[in-house]
Amino acid sequence: MALSSVPSKAPDVLVIGGGNAALVAALTAREAGATVMLLESAPPQWRGGNTMHTRNLRCMHEAPQDVLTEAYPEDEYWQDLLKVTGGLTDETLARIAIRESSHCRDWMRSHGVRFQSSLSGTLHLSRTNAFFLGGGKALVNAYYRSAAALGVDIRYNCRVVGLDIEDGRFRGARVEHTEVQADGSHRVLRTETLGARACVVAAGGFESNLDWLREAWGPVADNFLIRGTRYNMGVVLKQLLAAGADQIGDPTQCHAVAIDARAPKFDGGICTRVDCVSLGVVVNREARRFYDEGEDFWPKRYAIWGRLVAQQPEQIGYSIIDAKARGRFMPPVFPGVKADTLAELADKLGLDAATLEKTIADYNAACVPGRFDHAILDDCHTRDLSPPKTHWALPIDTPPFLGYALRPGITFTYLGVRVNDKAQVRFSDRPSGNLFAAGEVMAGNVLGKGYLAGIGMTIGTAFGRIAGREAARSLGFTGERDGIAA
Ligand SMILES: Cc1cc2nc3c(=O)[nH]c(=O)nc-3n(C[C@H](O)[C@H](O)[C@H](O)COP(=O)(O)OP(=O)(O)OC[C@H]3O[C@@H](n4cnc5c(N)ncnc54)[C@H](O)[C@@H]3O)c2cc1C
Repeated sequence: MALSSVPSKAPDVLVIGGGNAALVAALTAREAGATVMLLESAPPQWRGGNTMHTRNLRCMHEAPQDVLTEAYPEDEYWQDLLKVTGGLTDETLARIAIRESSHCRDWMRSHGVRFQSSLSGTLHLSRTNAFFLGGGKALVNAYYRSAAALGVDIRYNCRVVGLDIEDGRFRGARVEHTEVQADGSHRVLRTETLGARACVVAAGGFESNLDWLREAWGPVADNFLIRGTRYNMGVVLKQLLAAGADQIGDPTQCHAVAIDARAPKFDGGICTRVDCVSLGVVVNREARRFYDEGEDFWPKRYAIWGRLVAQQPEQIGYSIIDAKARGRFMPPVFPGVKADTLAELADKLGLDAATLEKTIADYNAACVPGRFDHAILDDCHTRDLSPPKTHWALPIDTPPFLGYALRPGITFTYLGVRVNDKAQVRFSDRPSGNLFAAGEVMAGNVLGKGYLAGIGMTIGTAFGRIAGREAARSLGFTGERDGIAA
C-alpha cells in the first residue's frame, strides 16, 4: 500500500475493523449514500480478522431454502439460544439477529458471497447453517472486492489506538499507520487523528491480547491458544469502556474449544479442532477422566471442552480413542499419536502408564453393552463410574490406540459494549447519536455465555447491516445505493 503523508480526508462514516461486521457495515453505509473509510489494522494478506476462519452462518427459515434443509423457525432458534446462554441474552436484540438471518443471504449474494450445502463431518449442521463456498476467506475477499468497487476507502495497516469521545459522541480516532517487519512485529510509520461524522466500531474482541487474557484468567491463560487472528487486541474496546460506554459481559466469558496442543499460538483455524472426544475418553495430566464425554451431541458440547481443559492441571487434556473410532470424525490436521498398547501410548504422551491403564480398564469394565449409534443419543453408557459416560460408551480395546493432546483454544471473547436495537453504543443507558457497534465487540448482548454454531456470523451480519444503515441515516443518508454509480 502506498503511504501518503497527506492527512486523510474525513469520511461521513468511519468503520473501525476489517472483518465481517466492519465490511457489512461499510457496504451498507456506502449503499445508503455515505462516504465510508474502513480501517483494518492488519496488512492485506492478513485482512479479515476471525471472519477469514469461518465456514457458515446460522439461519432461521420456515421451509427448505437453497442450501438449507427442512425448517428452522424463529422460536426453535430462540429456544436453542436461550438454552445455551442460560437466559444471559437480550431477547429483543437476539430476535432481531435471528429474523435478519432469514433474509440476509440475498444481500450477501449481491456482494459476491456464495453458499454451499454442508459437508459431512461438519457437526451435522445441514438444517440450521448455510456454508460459505470457499469458506470465510472467500466471503472476506468478496466483500473487499465489492467495497472497493463501490468506492469504500479501504486502509490497511491502520491501527486505531485512541478514540476521542465527548458526552457519548464520536469526534475522532487516533490512528497508527504501521508496517510489518520481517520478524512479524509492526513499526509505526506515522500517526494521525481522523475525524468523521459517524463511526462504526467493529474491531472484534480482546482474545489476542495475552496480557488482558492473563488479567481475566490468571496465569492459566499462558497455556491458551488463540484460534483466530492476532490482531484482535481489544484496544478499541478498552477505549470505549474508558470513555464511559456501558459494559456488557464478563471478561472470562468466551467461546473456547479443545484444540490440538500442537496448534500455533494464533490463527490455527478450524483444522486444529479435535472432534473425537465423544468417541473415546478424555484424561488429564494425571491420566484420570474428568467429565462425561458422551453428555450430548458433539455440536452441542464441543464449545464446553476448551473451558473444561482450562480447569485441568497445566491446562492440558488427552483425547484417547481406539481403532473403532477411525472414520467417524473429521480428522484434525495433526495426526494422532499412535501405539499398539495403552502403556506405549501413555509413554508417548508423557502420561503415567499404570494410571492410564487403570483408568481405561475401569472405564471398559463399566461400559454397558448397547446398540452404538453416533447419530442418536444411543444406549451405550457406563454404570457405576464417576464421571459417567452417558452415550457412545464403547470399550477402548482395539489397537491401534490414538491420543491427541488438547489445549484450550479461544475463539472469541464476549466482553463488549451495550447497544440498542439500532446498534447505538450506550453511555449511562443513553444511546450515542453517532457511535455504533457491530460484531464481536457487542456480541455479548446476545451471548452472555455458551454458543450456538454459526451465530457469530449471524450477529455480525445483522448488526453490521443495522450499524451501517443507522450510521448513514444519522447523517441523513437513507437511500439504497444513493449516489453510487451502478
Ligand atoms: C477458527 C474460527 C472459526 C470460526 N467459525 C465460525 C463459523 O463457522 N461461523 C460463525 O458464525 N462464527 C465462527 N467463528 C466466530 C467468528 O469468526 C466471529 O464471530 C466473527 O467473525 C466476528 O466478526 P467481527 O467482524 O466482529 O470480528 P473479526 O472478523 O475478528 O474482525 C475484527 C477486525 O478488527 C480489526 N481490528 C482489531 N483491532 C483493531 C484496531 N485497533 N484498529 C483497526 N482494526 C482493528 C482486526 O484486524 C479484524 O479485521 C469462528 C472463529 C474462529 C476463530
